[in-house]
Amino acid sequence: MSAATQHHDVVIVGGGTAGLTVAARLLAAQPGLDVAVIEPSETHYYQPIWTLVGGGVFDREISARPEADYMPAEASWIRERVLDFDPEARVVTTDAGARVGYQQLVVCAGIQLNWSAVDGLEGQAGQGGICSNYAYETVSSTWKFLRGIEQGRAVFTFPPTPIKCGGAPQKITYLADDHLRRRGVRDRVEVVYCASTASIFGVDKYRRSLEKVVGRKQIETHFRRNLIAVRPSSREAIFEDLDGGQELVVKYDLLHVVPPQGAPDFIARSALASDAGWVEVDKHTLQHTRYPDVFSLGDCSSLPCAKTGAAVRKQAPVLVDNLLAHRAGEAPSARYHGYSSCPLVTGYGKLILAEFDYDGVPTESFPFDQSQERYSMYALKAYALPELYWNGMLRGRM
Ligand SMILES: Cc1cc2nc3c(=O)[nH]c(=O)nc-3n(C[C@H](O)[C@H](O)[C@H](O)COP(=O)(O)OP(=O)(O)OC[C@H]3O[C@@H](n4cnc5c(N)ncnc54)[C@H](O)[C@@H]3O)c2cc1C
Repeated sequence: MSAATQHHDVVIVGGGTAGLTVAARLLAAQPGLDVAVIEPSETHYYQPIWTLVGGGVFDREISARPEADYMPAEASWIRERVLDFDPEARVVTTDAGARVGYQQLVVCAGIQLNWSAVDGLEGQAGQGGICSNYAYETVSSTWKFLRGIEQGRAVFTFPPTPIKCGGAPQKITYLADDHLRRRGVRDRVEVVYCASTASIFGVDKYRRSLEKVVGRKQIETHFRRNLIAVRPSSREAIFEDLDGGQELVVKYDLLHVVPPQGAPDFIARSALASDAGWVEVDKHTLQHTRYPDVFSLGDCSSLPCAKTGAAVRKQAPVLVDNLLAHRAGEAPSARYHGYSSCPLVTGYGKLILAEFDYDGVPTESFPFDQSQERYSMYALKAYALPELYWNGMLRGRM
């Protein structure tokens, strides 16, 4: 095996939400540390705003900014894609053939969208009424088809895999309902939500409020249903019953698909992976369970929390503290308790801000009952959080 072609104190794989935040925080905590970020994309996307792009509130361009503007000046940016890990030799290999050595490694390469896991779906989002808020390339199609539908059926899916932002499938359902009412065609368009989950939301406090929202909006719900195939020529979506019952064939005029998701293939086949393919870390310290020089956070980690940017915001300072403690020869003492947040948009100008921990216990930030729909929380999501993200979190300041 050839020696590493370059070497850094800390190598970060993935310069997305987690990678940029950790790089900025590491360099703020320890100026002069030699940090490299391996990230192939020239553009960084603020994905949480895609819900409102799909609902026609913003154009998709608002979510995209040059990666270079957010890469810390003191970090080395390696514009390549990681293919492989060798944690015994402390080296990663890139698609350009570089072998990058490290003392500590942080893995945060996000989650993989597996469109081909649904028969007939690959390449269809963006045409024939099929749309998705889950990719920059397809998010504008949601608004295009929503604006255009006059009658028939709008169907919204939720796959039986972990997904980023578990609330996003229902948020676009509520915006669609609201939009159709404002346009005066809601009585001609059925709104159908078909989810693999057993109920509308996993945390009881918010579930109770959301069930009222669904009832008020007269949304037809089917739980424990998994989209297994689409037939674009006849505009049919086929759902299996996860409890062993009969298949459901639904004719659609608009089909909003949340693709099945999983650990990126290059991680799942590596020595770092858990049985399920995620980077296997301790759920409190974020340190790898077998390779103490490896840490992970965000969507590709095995952390059993809801996969959101809000979770990353709380994970990043814990990871940085523990990584620096490890470098100093100390035991990691910072703890992450599973905080995640889901800003559940329930219509234009309305939002329930769910915040909870590993045990599903609400951990709310505001001194009022966050399970109630509020304009103030909608304004927080639409206008304040993007600013805090670009100017605070990615700069390592919050
Ligand atoms: C529609 C939608 C709505 C959402 N709503 C919310 C919300 O309201 N609130 C919230 O907090 N979160 C929300 N999220 C989730 C949030 O965007 C993610 O949880 C967050 O971005 C995860 O950060 P990450 O760094 O783990 O992954 P990402 O930010 O996705 O970054 C992963 C990075 O890894 C890079 N990468 C991939 N493969 C490789 C490789 N082989 N080598 C090197 N680099 C690689 C990618 O290019 C990317 O830059 C939403 C997401 C979507 C799609």
